[in-house]
Amino acid sequence: MKVQQQADLTALNTFGVTGTARQLFEIESEQDLPELPSLQPEQDLVLGGGSNILLVGDVDGKLILNRIRGIRLIDADSEHVLIEVGAGENWHSLVCHALKQGWHGLENLALIPGLAGAAPIQNIGAYGVELAEVLESVRAWDWQQARWVEFTNEQCELDYRDSLFRREPRDRYFISSIRLRLMHDFEPRLDYTGLREALAAKSPSAANVFATVVALRQQKLPDPAIQGNAGSFFKNPVLTRADAESLLQQHPLLPHWKLANGHIKLSAAALIQAAGLKGYQHGAAAVSDRHALVLVNRGGASGAELWQLAQQVQTRIRHQFGIQLEPEPRIYPGTLSSELQISE
Ligand code: FAD
Ligand code: NAP
Repeated sequence: MKVQQQADLTALNTFGVTGTARQLFEIESEQDLPELPSLQPEQDLVLGGGSNILLVGDVDGKLILNRIRGIRLIDADSEHVLIEVGAGENWHSLVCHALKQGWHGLENLALIPGLAGAAPIQNIGAYGVELAEVLESVRAWDWQQARWVEFTNEQCELDYRDSLFRREPRDRYFISSIRLRLMHDFEPRLDYTGLREALAAKSPSAANVFATVVALRQQKLPDPAIQGNAGSFFKNPVLTRADAESLLQQHPLLPHWKLANGHIKLSAAALIQAAGLKGYQHGAAAVSDRHALVLVNRGGASGAELWQLAQQVQTRIRHQFGIQLEPEPRIYPGTLSSELQISE
């Protein structure tokens, strides 16, 4: 385990926000975990690739970086393979590795930044596929009880950009590995119009779906290596049918989708764009002019500036559409002082 004092956080979060952690621990094997003093919620922080977090303050306690590697074939039958993936494996490299091996199911999830251990935290999803469909189980260290625990897929309570691990008590579990059940045969998943249209002239092979997802993402999303961001900053709001019908009467052009449970999902990007906020700037923080759902650091933005921008967007959408947008990335620290609230 590597340990560092007063560590610089700038390269450890994809927003590129500056900050320091009093102590940094780099976990490279499961044996390191029982040796660490227990995590203090609200103060200490676990990070993978830092692509789903907004740091609004320094880490006054311990920053624990998950760097446990390894991909292992556990079992195989005529239809499936079961693999175990160290939580510190890069997610996109895993997708590439699976494709090369002929293990299918991850193609639509190509090019999602971050590490495998964070994938269950918000049940990562893209182009109509979620981790929930391939996740077999999660192995984690329980800080509260100082013991190893295993969660089945069902026990993870995976939902739209949500899971047991995002809820209270947050940070109780440190995920060390995940098991995925992948398929030998490829079944293209082309529910999303954008993906279907982009593939129209090609055969829907695994390699073509993977390459098309990569190309679409490169075209549409700002690259965090060039312009700091954490992907979609807000979740798509989900309304009851009655609430959605009344909103759509006033705003009939808003894109929306019916979910399996009868609720209606709206596009947060479309709401922000309709409010005229695409490209809106607050100091060095801005709503991306390429994608309305992405907040970007145009250079030197502080975490507080980005959070103020996010709150301005929330306020405008609440006033215009009566909808409270919920941030998707973690906002750290979790209990933010009221001085950051923007008056309405
Ligand atoms: P981090 O940001 O390091 O951590 C996120 C949260 O998980 C934090 O609360 C952290 O404490 C916790 N955590 C991390 N690792 C562990 C662990 N081992 N044990 C316990 N807790 C842990 N997300 C999608 O779902 N779909 C997308 O299509 C998508 N596209 C994106 C595109 C861009 C350009 C960017 C920047 C982000 C995108 N994201 C997307 C968000 C993000 O990439 C994912 O949520 C990813 O899974 C985060 O991984 P990470 O390792 O960077 O997590
Ligand atoms: P897109 O394909 O232009 O679609 C815009 C929005 O419409 C998305 O938010 C998507 O919802 C929704 N949508 C489109 N077709 C749908 C369908 N058939 N059924 C239900 N919902 C539909 O989206 P994009 O912005 O270019 O992103 C493409 C995919 O990558 C999306 O799935 C998106 O979630 C994912 N992505 C996620 C992040 C992140 O940080 N979380 C960042 C970039 C991209 P969903 O978002 O619910 O899928």
